[in-house]
Amino acid sequence: MADRDGVIWLDGEMVPWREAKVHVLTHTLHYGLGCFEGVRAYNTAEGAAIFRMKDHTDRLFRSAHILNMKMPFSKDEINAAQLSAVRDNNLDEAYLRPMVFYGSEGMGLRADNLKAHVMVAAWEWPSYMAPEAKELGIKVRTSSYTRHHVNITMCKAKANGNYINSMLALQEAVSSGCEEALMLDNEGYVAEGSSENFFILRNGVLHTPELTSCLEGITRQTILDFAKELNIEVKERRITRDEVYVAEEAFFTGTAAEVLPVRELDGRVIGAGKRGPLTEKLQTMFFDAVKGRSAKHMDWLSVVKS
Ligand code: PMP
Repeated sequence: MADRDGVIWLDGEMVPWREAKVHVLTHTLHYGLGCFEGVRAYNTAEGAAIFRMKDHTDRLFRSAHILNMKMPFSKDEINAAQLSAVRDNNLDEAYLRPMVFYGSEGMGLRADNLKAHVMVAAWEWPSYMAPEAKELGIKVRTSSYTRHHVNITMCKAKANGNYINSMLALQEAVSSGCEEALMLDNEGYVAEGSSENFFILRNGVLHTPELTSCLEGITRQTILDFAKELNIEVKERRITRDEVYVAEEAFFTGTAAEVLPVRELDGRVIGAGKRGPLTEKLQTMFFDAVKGRSAKHMDWLSVVKS
């Protein structure tokens, strides 16, 4: 990743990609206290446009606030940085990674001279899964790792250190022949995937876990908005893993994963064992919105334009 052409926005300036470096004593590298976003830009009729950029920036600022990190830039500046990162790298479609981290000003948990730094990188990252997965769905296993407890890590923050748990769960799932992990909360109820929110359809009603121990996903909110438009009832509530086994449809949502059907959990086939009709409908609405084909949702797009 480090050895490529292009530029990265770092602390207010565009820096050549290979020179966007930090010191080995970078505080966040040692203790994981930092926060980040995952954002996507899609190619639309007006060129690249960032999907729900302001919502992502708002969440980044909420994460920093939860972690007590003082943001050295305004939201407008971070929005402008994201637009520049796509524009200056000549990208039509992009994954964007804004991150807030402490530098090498001090070491140890008691360091009191730490400064928050901000970077925004953008690069081409076409599909998180094999393209067929969008249609056929993926195989998932319930993780042996419990999702964060609300009073251990701060679940509303998209914090760097939170992803230790995600990576362990995903590695376990992949090494046992699955493509993603479904993580349960500390009481045994379904929480989310390693970096996705989760939905099931049962008896024509969409169900998704409450936001207690999962991230406030922006794609999740997009699906809730679509469900409202379609007059589909949604229940945000506790879900058990065996309810997933007998669901009609199940899918993950996330900026990287987009809207991704789940065809199997723990060896039990879900519904027809492929993308269900509602998942397909929501997926179509999602891609129409992100690609600027939905007149109703143009306000979700920030056009990059040169
Ligand atoms: N949960 C976790 C833990 C995540 O990392 C993500 C990805 N940001 C999501 C859910 C989905 O959130 P979003 O739709 O905003 O990408």
